[in-house]
Amino acid sequence: MNFKDYIRVIPDYPQPGIRFKDITTLLKDGAAYRAAIEAMHKAIAHKEIDLVAGPEARGFVIGAPLAISLGVGFVPVRKSGKLPGETVEASYDLEYGKDRLAIHADSIKPGQRVLIADDLLATGGTIATTIDLIRQLGGEVVGASFLIELSYLPGREKLGGIEVQSLITY
Ligand code: IMP
Repeated sequence: MNFKDYIRVIPDYPQPGIRFKDITTLLKDGAAYRAAIEAMHKAIAHKEIDLVAGPEARGFVIGAPLAISLGVGFVPVRKSGKLPGETVEASYDLEYGKDRLAIHADSIKPGQRVLIADDLLATGGTIATTIDLIRQLGGEVVGASFLIELSYLPGREKLGGIEVQSLITY
């Protein structure tokens, strides 16, 4: 399956000059969505993984089905102020903007092996911060899996040598 055919590119969204990769056109196709998750699973099947962590909101749409497929739990990484329990937090820069991420302090036990999942790797700011939060809890980041990687942005380099898998590259 050529997964790129299912991604819609929207010019000048959310700002002029950005070519937004819209994954909703893949998500609404049951066969393509399932095949994408299966292909992402296959790419990391050799790894020992205890948990999948994904940043809101599209990281949930990719990370949760991947966790179910792997047979492990899912840890949501959310914008500050959204999680009800005690959190650890860190600020980060986006491809366009700035924000703050949070994770429940008891969501990962020291030494647990965590795979990060998200829809798209752009500048890497979101995932670098997610790595920081997981490590603050003593978790070991064993890789990062993306549906899409924008290879013309230095996202990979920002992740400090963590193994990156992506299904679709632009
Ligand atoms: P980064 O932190 O710059 O790597 O940005 C990655 C985050 O921004 C991901 O969580 C994406 O959901 C979002 N994002 C950035 N650019 C796009 C895009 O073109 N399409 C969809 N999401 C995007």
